[in-house]
Amino acid sequence: MTVQELLGRFHEVAVHPAAQKDALLAQGKKIVLTAPVYTPEEIIHAMGAVPMGAWGGDLELENSKKYFPAFICSIAQSIVELGMKGVYEGVSAIVIPSLCDSLKVLGENWKYAVPSIPFIPMTYPQNRKPAFGQTFTLAGYQRVIADLEKATGLTFDEAKLADSMEVYNQHNAAMRELTAVLADHPEITAAQRSDIFKSAWFMLKEEHTALVNQLVEALKAQPAGAAKTRILVSGILTDAPGLTSILDECGLQVVADDVAAESRQYRTDSPAEGTPLERLAAKFCNMDHCSLLYDVEKKRVNLIVDQAKSLNAQGVLLVLTKFCDPEEFDVPLIRRACQAASLPCSVIEVDRQMVNYEQARTAIETFRDLLSESM
Ligand code: SF4
Repeated sequence: MTVQELLGRFHEVAVHPAAQKDALLAQGKKIVLTAPVYTPEEIIHAMGAVPMGAWGGDLELENSKKYFPAFICSIAQSIVELGMKGVYEGVSAIVIPSLCDSLKVLGENWKYAVPSIPFIPMTYPQNRKPAFGQTFTLAGYQRVIADLEKATGLTFDEAKLADSMEVYNQHNAAMRELTAVLADHPEITAAQRSDIFKSAWFMLKEEHTALVNQLVEALKAQPAGAAKTRILVSGILTDAPGLTSILDECGLQVVADDVAAESRQYRTDSPAEGTPLERLAAKFCNMDHCSLLYDVEKKRVNLIVDQAKSLNAQGVLLVLTKFCDPEEFDVPLIRRACQAASLPCSVIEVDRQMVNYEQARTAIETFRDLLSESM
């Protein structure tokens, strides 16, 4: 397939997840929803079901408001809204991890708001680095497995988990290589880049890997387009068409991201040592550089600056999801580190109910002008 055909395929999947779900169900597959972030997809994959990401949607909140106070992030609220509207009907269960207060509330509310789809909690430890953190994580996975077996009627086999972890490690590697190649291809728009990452949530990872590898080879064979203003984008979710179109209209190229729904997923592989379940638990415990993962040293901040510098990004754009406490706590630290590194940094606030991006447009245009002056 050509670059344009591959980008078209990623776009189709990214904008029509319901069609993807229906097609998988028609093939007789079981689907398990995975809420953000770091849900152990490999377990679901190993059982023969398809993990599908549930990051909410850009829609008006009607019914879910009765389950949440107004100050809960729109990702959690819109997941319940979609569930109550029947968009997820046909799936076997939803796994929701416990990594922030909104996610904890989401799980409890889901039980009452969407009783037709079983809720499976995954309780992660905050202190994940000591041995007891890994033991706790492994015990959590064992409980998720028991709940999944009950909800899907499928059985878990640890040998198959080893195969699935290899599939996920290969996907991680493909996404990391893609990110590096995209940094040298400004002709790929922010919207197209977003489609590639978003589509990964709705496809079997082995199928997504095959398409990504094809795209990487096709991009390597074509000359790079005209240079744009290079930025690093950070945040939880940056897939809104209203946002990516502004980035493209402003001539900004995303050369790297620190986005929870994008590159943060692909930084850590399952290690080689231990039983398959121990290796999966170790994968989570080895993760770092994320606002949702406890870290007194806040290594994420330095990673953002170092990546931006190494890729010649001219600035850092923080896309802050409204009412996201974990991200808000890091903003002053990131700003300070960027300032110390003479790296312009701008913050815009978004949520999944935004229909008017004009305020964000003004901030991004000003940021673009600032970066142009500093060149
Ligand atoms: S991390 Fe932030 S955006 Fe994600 S669910 Fe928690 S509060 Fe919402």
